[in-house]
Amino acid sequence: MNIHEFQGKELLKRYGVAVLDGYVASTPEEAEEGAKKLPGPIYVVKSQIHAGGRGAGRFKDDPNGKGGVRLAKSVEEVKTNAAAMLGHVLVTKQTGPEGKQVNRLYIEAGCDIARELYVALLLDRETSRVVIMASTEGGMEIEEVAEHNPEKILKVHVDPATGVSGYHGRKLAFGLGLEGKQVNSFVKFVTALYQAYVELECAIVEINPLVVTKQGDVVALDAKVSFDDNALFRHKDLEALRDDTEMDPKELDAAKFELNYVALDGEIGCMVNGAGLAMSTMDIIKLYGSSPANFLDVGGTADAARVTEAFRIITSDPNVKAILVNIFGGIAKCDMIANGIVVASKNLDLQVPLVVRLEGTNVELGKKILAESGLKIIPADNLADAAQKVVAAVKGA
Ligand code: ADP
Ligand code: MG
Repeated sequence: MNIHEFQGKELLKRYGVAVLDGYVASTPEEAEEGAKKLPGPIYVVKSQIHAGGRGAGRFKDDPNGKGGVRLAKSVEEVKTNAAAMLGHVLVTKQTGPEGKQVNRLYIEAGCDIARELYVALLLDRETSRVVIMASTEGGMEIEEVAEHNPEKILKVHVDPATGVSGYHGRKLAFGLGLEGKQVNSFVKFVTALYQAYVELECAIVEINPLVVTKQGDVVALDAKVSFDDNALFRHKDLEALRDDTEMDPKELDAAKFELNYVALDGEIGCMVNGAGLAMSTMDIIKLYGSSPANFLDVGGTADAARVTEAFRIITSDPNVKAILVNIFGGIAKCDMIANGIVVASKNLDLQVPLVVRLEGTNVELGKKILAESGLKIIPADNLADAAQKVVAAVKGA
């Protein structure tokens, strides 16, 4: 689960992570009120959406205007900027071309930046340890740094039994070229960050940029905090930070039926059991020249009801021009899945071409049910055959 920057900063602050003062606003008047409580003379007006790249992003209705993070030199300027941003759609590298509507702003104290650094904590699955990553290339996308200058990413792993110690922070601080009192500030910062990461059971905490101020302080200027969904049941208070307006309505709907669904922007709806098979199904659709409209793992216990819900969600996406069902019957037997497909197609009056590839337990019975259903289902024998047929169906349509 992702949360907003201002929520992340509030949580991190409780652990002793240095952040600047700021106030949330959902109207220009609230933005003005917030700014009045800050010392000035520089204020920063920051769009609160679940996506990065806001500074370099542009508003859809003003593509040549200013971005989603704006400096203001007076309280009045804060207010006019707030009015120009609230309710408008911000497009960034991470939002996709459709962008995200800005419903809230964070009005933050302006900061005298000497250096912009990067620091992030995440789980390294290979070593089963939390890894602290740091880089001198703050403010940039870390993926770019990883691709072009991998040597500029420093990493230390933390043994969960002993936890974080001064050594970890110092090693990174020296690697980043910090000096004097900056080293201690950084060590304190990273230690607090680690404590927050572990206690809140985060998936990732990314501070980009982490800045060294002209006064030598180390402060989080941005904060991306995301929690491990599987641990959320232990943190009821964090549930309150969920912002459903940031989620795709189809994904919210799918979550209610415990379907693993991720909306994408292609044209072929996919219904698959097993995450690995779902990934390879998306790959092979690409390979044959089209693109998937979604990732969907219906799970091992797929029955007629779940299959119907899955079809309903897939077809609620207007971009879907055909559907590919790719099921490997194990616990979920092929005949049961076939029955589910027949019931769902009839109930939903499915209009788009449907290609079905079944394999595994009771496959012959499953194929027979589909063939005798009277529905216009295109059967496929294997993954490549299925992908070719569904792409042909889309291209022909
Ligand atoms: P995003 O990563 O979504 O673009 P950031 O919070 O990282 O958003 O802000 C983008 C840039 O704006 C930062 O790299 C920094 O240069 C500047 N910035 C952000 N907050 C402040 C602040 N409080 N004071 C001064 N500059 C800021
Ligand atoms: Mg940032």
